[in-house]
This record gives sequence, structure tokens and C-alpha cells, in this order.
Amino acid sequence: MHYIGRFAPSPSGPLHFGSLIAATASYLCAKSANGKWLLRIEDVDQFRIKKNSINSIINTLESYGYQWDDDILYQSQRSEAYQDALDSLGKLSYPCTCTRKFLQKQVPTGTYGYIYPNFCREQISNPDAPQFAMRLRTNNTSIHVDDYLQDALCQDIEAEVGDFIIKRSDKMFSYQLAVVVDDEHQNVTDVVRGSDLLDNTPRQIYLQQCLRYQQSSYLHFPTAITPDGKKLSKQNHSPEVDAQQKRLTILRTLNFLGQEAPSIDQFSTLEDIWNWAIKNWDRDKIPAQMTLPENYPNHDTT
Ligand SMILES: [Zn+2]
Repeated sequence: MHYIGRFAPSPSGPLHFGSLIAATASYLCAKSANGKWLLRIEDVDQFRIKKNSINSIINTLESYGYQWDDDILYQSQRSEAYQDALDSLGKLSYPCTCTRKFLQKQVPTGTYGYIYPNFCREQISNPDAPQFAMRLRTNNTSIHVDDYLQDALCQDIEAEVGDFIIKRSDKMFSYQLAVVVDDEHQNVTDVVRGSDLLDNTPRQIYLQQCLRYQQSSYLHFPTAITPDGKKLSKQNHSPEVDAQQKRLTILRTLNFLGQEAPSIDQFSTLEDIWNWAIKNWDRDKIPAQMTLPENYPNHDTT
């Protein structure tokens, strides 16, 4: 099958170094396989969108020389497709009136947050509630994730997460549903993303099964963790970075991903770096875990 990969940033701020690592990893996996690389803006949660960050993300990717195929897909324009998918789940989905506040008080917390005890599965807990979410009924079979880099993950969703939300009470569709419907719509064969998203994968595979979709292949590269245990985060705007700084940044993403790129003086343009990277990309060199050295640069990329 023809390789189709994607990069799917959520516009909650400008791209930071951690997001460029995700862009580089997914880009080079696709391009070195002669495949397509699609760009999807994950603006499904309209309350989390930061003003101007969609333009900022697109401009940044362009200025760093990433070249996406096909039109950009915006989750904010996909509500009908998500609703169709939800409708097709039929009795596998059900309304739930439990509020977050109520659950936080009532419910034990597991590895993946609170475990929903399926209060509303057979009977809605509060018929007078002004609004309700939609949950997906789970069962006690284990979902296995075979990952190209990470140890296999096995999750009993019913026991470890519980029936989970696919449409929120504020009528926003959940991240899990949107991602799965979009990956199917865009014929994505390979999901390459940070290992902080690994925990979501069993739920997404279960949704793919419920919707009778193709299952994707997965590669979760290590999320950059600083020595004090913090993730690389979004930072404030810094002044416009110059061309040499851009070449350096791309080389840093390559080295983070274990690619042993030559030093910057071997490349006169960004295009040279990309040509080298596509030709020499080796996903087997990506480390499964990674801690950053002290004082690792975590500058803004815009
Ligand atoms: Zn409920």
C-alpha cells in the first residue's frame, strides 16, 4: 500500500521545537517512502484555539521548507463527518449527563485519569440535566498496540479508562473521534507522533474497529523531556529567526531523531538539508527514549 503520513498540530500556540520534531519525523518517514505527507489542523476544540496560531503554524512550516501534499484539512470544517460517524455507531454510543465535577468527586483515578464507571450506560443518571455528552460503550477485550519503536502496549479500555467521551456536552467532538475519522478520510496508513500520545492509541484503535475502519501503523518517537522532567513547551514569541538559525533548528530535529546529520557548514541551504535527510533517513536510528541535556535550547520557531 502507498504510504500516507500526516502532521496534525493543534493551533493552541505557535509551533515549538517539540512540534518541529514531530513534523520532521512524520515528514521524513513519508518522503523517504515516496509517500504523501498531509497537513491537518486539529482545531476541533474551538475553545483552545489561540488567535493567529493557524497562520503562524502554516507560515512556520513553509519557511522551514516542509512541503505538504493535497489541501490542508481543518477539523473545524468536519463536524458533519464526525456526526455521521457518531450516528453510525448506533447503540454503541449513549448519552451521559455526569459532569466532570461529579466524576472527580465520585470516581477512582487510574493510570490514564479517572476511570468512568459507566454510570449512564444502562440508564441516564440525571434525566433533567440541561446537556449531555456522548460516550462510546467499551468491552473487556484487550487492545494491543504494536508500535515500531515503543514496547507493545496492551490496554483493557473498559477496566482502565471506561466508556469514553466521543462528543462533549458543549457539542464539541472529542479529539479521539476526530482523529480516527480524519485518518480514515485521508487514507492515512502510518501515524508518526510523540510518545505522549501513545496512551490514546488503544482508544483510537477501538474506535477504528467499531467504525469498521482500516487500522493504521504506529511509530511513537520519544517526547523530549528535560532533565528536570518537563516536556518542551510552547514559549513566548522571540524575534524572527534568520536563515542560518533555521538550518540549525532543522539539523537539531534530525539529531534529536538519531540521524547523525553532517554539520551545518556542509549545507548552504535548507533545501540541501532536506535532500540529505530524505536520502539518508533511517527510522531505525530513532531512540525509543530521550532525555535532553541541561540548557537545551527551547526557543520559539516563528
Ligand atoms: Zn454519565
